[in-house]
Amino acid sequence: MDWLSERRLAGAVLDALTASICVVDHSGVIVAVNEAWRRFSDENGGSDAFLGMNYIEVCRRATGAGADAAHRFGHNIEEVLTCRRDRFEMEYPCHSPDTRRWFLTRVTRLETEAVSHDDTDCVAVITHQDITARKLLEFELKMLAETDELTGLKNRRKFLATADKVLERLKGEGMPASMFIIDLDHFKEINDTHGHAAGDEALRHVAELFKRGIRCGDLLARIGGEEFAVLLPNTDEWGAIMVAERVRALVADSTTGTGEGKLKLTVSIGVTTLWKSDSSPDAALGRADAALYRAKENGRNCVRAATVEFISPIGV
Ligand code: GH3
Ligand code: MG
Ligand code: MG
Repeated sequence: MDWLSERRLAGAVLDALTASICVVDHSGVIVAVNEAWRRFSDENGGSDAFLGMNYIEVCRRATGAGADAAHRFGHNIEEVLTCRRDRFEMEYPCHSPDTRRWFLTRVTRLETEAVSHDDTDCVAVITHQDITARKLLEFELKMLAETDELTGLKNRRKFLATADKVLERLKGEGMPASMFIIDLDHFKEINDTHGHAAGDEALRHVAELFKRGIRCGDLLARIGGEEFAVLLPNTDEWGAIMVAERVRALVADSTTGTGEGKLKLTVSIGVTTLWKSDSSPDAALGRADAALYRAKENGRNCVRAATVEFISPIGV
């Protein structure tokens, strides 16, 4: 095969690929593009597929959302072209007004003998591959991994991971935080009397009430069968007690439906702050659990805290 035929074949192969591909010369000017690049550029208002434009300059001048990523990308094209690194790749979001999209981009330096006989300058090939389907799947899996199926709330894994971060912030920046555990009272009786399905419905019902009782910024999770937990960043023990009391009262004042009519439920709650000395959120969970145990001992349908002494229900 002669040289010209080889180039035609190479061009046809590049046009057959789904990734948008361009070649930039040693200064970053776009000197060649494939069919997918042209199509993308047409659909997104690029004139003449950006041919002749300096890719590094375009990235450097980027402003607004995504500007940081563009600056970093431009810098790395330069790094590859000046042989400071062989290749670079990154994932980035590129949302249009009506579609969410993500791309994987790669910058690879080419030995120019491979593309030209009379030029020894360095060139780079830049590819942009649409990875939206994979990204959406990743988000979906992440969401499933941190969600409780029955109630749609966050699960224990997500609660502990978030509590871990909040504990780090307490240790680093001194930002206070609290948590409480909510346990349904005599829940076994509900299952035994009305059946498991009614029990499930009651769990979903109280989950909705808990959502109403907590504040924006608090994290609510189902951490066990009929146990829930709330993480309250920037909140001391008294602040957490107030929220817990509101949650308790909301449940006590409500009824849930079963196949056989209305059902009254109550909850007991154990509150604690996070301590700098806690080696992990489990230590705080242990204190909340001990306070919860006292709430159960003290007759249920009440709130108890790790250090603050008070009479709950407050104001009754
Ligand atoms: P206490 O007031 O001391 O907390 O009593 P309790 O009956 O609530 O506590 P216990 O731990 O004895 O019983 C918890 C019950 O919660 C037992 C279990 O059948 C039920 N449970 C746990 N997970 C689920 C669930 O997903 N759905 C239903 N319907 N019931 C559940
Ligand atoms: Mg329990
Ligand atoms: Mg219980």
